[in-house]
Amino acid sequence: MKVKVPCTCYAPVDFEYDEVVDLAQAPEAANQIMAGSFMEVKCPKCGKALHPEFPFTVKHEGKKIDIQFLPERMRDDYLRGTSKYCFKKDGRIVIGFPELAEKLKVINEGFDDRVIEVIKYYMVSKIEADQKPENEIRAFFECTDSAGNLVFQVLGLKDNEAAQLTIPKSFYEVCKVKTLAYQKSEPFCLFLSPPYISLLRISRVYEEITEPEKKPEPEQKG
Ligand SMILES: [Zn+2]
Repeated sequence: MKVKVPCTCYAPVDFEYDEVVDLAQAPEAANQIMAGSFMEVKCPKCGKALHPEFPFTVKHEGKKIDIQFLPERMRDDYLRGTSKYCFKKDGRIVIGFPELAEKLKVINEGFDDRVIEVIKYYMVSKIEADQKPENEIRAFFECTDSAGNLVFQVLGLKDNEAAQLTIPKSFYEVCKVKTLAYQKSEPFCLFLSPPYISLLRISRVYEEITEPEKKPEPEQKG
């Protein structure tokens, strides 16, 4: 599909994208998605790299991949149930490029995406309890290390900075058992029912649930 997208310099930029991306025919697309360079277009006027988001489907029949991508701007519509897109129950939905990149990394490693979300549930709950962060914490599976442990990127702990958290492989196995046993019970069913399997379905408003704390003002440096 051909569209024009506005650059931050206000120049209209020609952009063309496929509504169906078949990874069997375009295997390089998977690497671009995971590297964050997929659907990148450069503004011919100012040279800025843009990442326009439009709905499309990622498929690979042999690998049983069937993912509907929704732009971040459609998140609220989808969560409210007012999205005009219809979804297959056995497929998957992701919202925004970080979720799409993560989903492909999870599939590449041979992990169950539901187990990954359950790990995140425990991880984010612990961070909330220990650190009472002001921002929403978002965690994304990144890769496995040489010992097979799971490495996650965690956003929201510090402004504009991602922290890395490594989860032991043994915890994956623990969460796998829990997932299979409790996926239909709360709280797991709130974010494990297909097609949108994501902890981000549970919205968290920290200002309302955390106790107001009096902290001394940090000293100004410099
Ligand atoms: Zn521009």
